[in-house]
Amino acid sequence: MEVKTSLLDNMIGVGDMVLLEPLNEDSFIENLRNRFDHNEIYTYIGSVVISMNPYRSLPIYTPQKVEEYRNRNFYELSPHIYALADEAYRSLRDQDKDQCILITGESGAGKTEASKLVMSYVAAVCGKGQEVNKVKEQLLQSNPVLEAFGNAKTMRNDNSSRFGKYMDIEFDFKGDPLGGVISNYLLEKSRVCKQPRGERNFHIFYQLLSGASDDTLMKLKLDRDFSKYNYLSLDSANVNGLDDAASFRTVRIVGFMEAEVQSVLELVAAVLKLGNIEFKPESRINGFDESRVKDKNGETIEMCELLGIEQSVLERAFSYRTVEAKMEKMSTTLNVAQAYYARDALAKNLYSRLFSWLVTRINESIKAQAKTRHKVMGVLDIYGFEIFEDNSFEQFIINYCNEKLQQIFIELTLREEQEEYIREDIEWTNIEYFNNAVICDLIENNQNGILAMLDEECLRPGTVTDDTFLDKLNTICAEHQHFESRLSKNSKFLTDHSLPHSCFRIQHYAGKVLYRVEGFVDKNNDLLYRDLSQAMYKATHSLMRQLFPEGNPAKVNLKRPPTAGFQFKASVGVLMKNLQTKNPNYIRCIKPNDKKVAHIFTDSLVCHQVRYLGLMENVRVRRAGYAFRQPYESCLERYKMLCKKTWPQWRGPTRDGVEVLLTDCSVPSEEFAYGRSKIFIRNPRTLFTLEERRRAC
Ligand code: ADP
Ligand code: MG
Repeated sequence: MEVKTSLLDNMIGVGDMVLLEPLNEDSFIENLRNRFDHNEIYTYIGSVVISMNPYRSLPIYTPQKVEEYRNRNFYELSPHIYALADEAYRSLRDQDKDQCILITGESGAGKTEASKLVMSYVAAVCGKGQEVNKVKEQLLQSNPVLEAFGNAKTMRNDNSSRFGKYMDIEFDFKGDPLGGVISNYLLEKSRVCKQPRGERNFHIFYQLLSGASDDTLMKLKLDRDFSKYNYLSLDSANVNGLDDAASFRTVRIVGFMEAEVQSVLELVAAVLKLGNIEFKPESRINGFDESRVKDKNGETIEMCELLGIEQSVLERAFSYRTVEAKMEKMSTTLNVAQAYYARDALAKNLYSRLFSWLVTRINESIKAQAKTRHKVMGVLDIYGFEIFEDNSFEQFIINYCNEKLQQIFIELTLREEQEEYIREDIEWTNIEYFNNAVICDLIENNQNGILAMLDEECLRPGTVTDDTFLDKLNTICAEHQHFESRLSKNSKFLTDHSLPHSCFRIQHYAGKVLYRVEGFVDKNNDLLYRDLSQAMYKATHSLMRQLFPEGNPAKVNLKRPPTAGFQFKASVGVLMKNLQTKNPNYIRCIKPNDKKVAHIFTDSLVCHQVRYLGLMENVRVRRAGYAFRQPYESCLERYKMLCKKTWPQWRGPTRDGVEVLLTDCSVPSEEFAYGRSKIFIRNPRTLFTLEERRRAC
């Protein structure tokens, strides 16, 4: 970190927490509040940007602002997300370093907005020309589509991302953008069929129904009335400040043909229709009930027409399922509950596969053309930590992912810090702070991690239920307790008598979370009866067929597909490896209140986030070492007027000049360390003194 200049002048509060005196939690929060009250939503901890969600639009993202921050040194101007974006972009272009922008914070804290601000800043400052502009436009246009299909209104955020997104933007050697690649992580597909109270389904459903032309809706056999659809929650269909109809018009799918768009919308319509299919029991002689489609409103017929599926094929798949074992095939009947289960499984799979297909398709149109890529900037915007009253498999997965990100923050900030000391030959002793590796291990350990135990249970023959899974967890964790092993010593898996029935609790880095095991086995298994995928494969709708390749009778595969947890763990592993090869830039987002409103700053809420994000430790690490470092030239240039020997011009090596200067100013020698190319300054006060003297000059 280089010495700041303007940060010390005309600043509201302290722009960089490293300079905060005295440093404690109260002053830290007071500083955030003070700045927030004056519309200063960005504050630094060294090179880390803290971003407070203002919940209203501030005039700080204008083209003039972009110009102001462009090609300026990080600490020259007041803290801004543009400064981080500029720094990252310039070091990619000029120093040949792959960058990644890691944005963390809880749901509603402003991660997605931050990622868009970074992308638009980079787009504004990199390259020009028609071809380059086209690339930029395509990269930016991928956002509205993915948000329409992957975001939803939740209690925490009216536009909550329900999937994780990582985008690599590729640049050529001049720093012009060539294209990009998006990876998506686990869409919360359970939302397709059921939404928690006060929340909505994915935006696209409402956008389509309210924004499409009458003609389009007629072709899709849809009704404008949300209340006609079982899968759409009614209590919150209209969200203040969200104009579904207008959004629908802006959801232009990059590089898609008209026919492709139509076919995507047909599948969206099919999901809605599917939700309206109902079942009734039909008694059979043997006393069992067998499910039959109860087609009151012709929804099944319409759905079959939309997709080109024979009605009898679909109906049969809702009444029977084929069980294949080795060479044998058996048909068993589905009861009504099983039929509903199968219907919902189909809807969820259809929607999430459609989502992944969209990502693949967008990637095709934004991928870099022939030119070889040179450098990459990755932007990670992944769902934030979630603690609800009712936490299920989805929250477990989301929180696991956040643990991994926190882990990478810890590793990289420490690593980076240490590497600099080594490079510069400066002596350095480690600072202890909470390392969440134990929690990651508790979840992902291959032998007895929670995910491994869940998989083991899911694959075990015999009766498997959520409760047998929980028993297993408890037993294994109790055993560990007995042997005083890792799990118990750090006791991140919390067992106590206050636990409600069918629950387990984990001490995450961000707080204790109670998980209800109901649905864990099912969601991890993510099974879709083969009869249904085969029925879908029989559709004449070509996109539909493409989404259910396993329905191809020629490709019958008895092997079970990997579980949801397994796949997620693998893809997070790949992501982490990828991030580790890049130079990290951090944006830590904080939510000022729980009401999604402007001007309110709730101390306790902010305090909680500051704690679990480890921001105090972050400042302390920064300060324990040398709070400031600056290349000899810049240091000499800035303070040379404080010493007769260096003013107006020092002749000789700059390092010696700095030494003469500092000795002359009688600053205690333990305050400094001389690195290879930089001077390291331990205490912010020293810097204050220098700055004050300079001002007095
Ligand atoms: P997250 O992705 O962390 O869940 P979002 O980025 O979706 O949160 O932000 C939630 C909402 O907060 C946005 O829809 C927007 O209304 C508001 N918001 C977030 N960041 C900003 C910002 N920098 N300026 C203005 N409003 C913001
Ligand atoms: Mg988001």
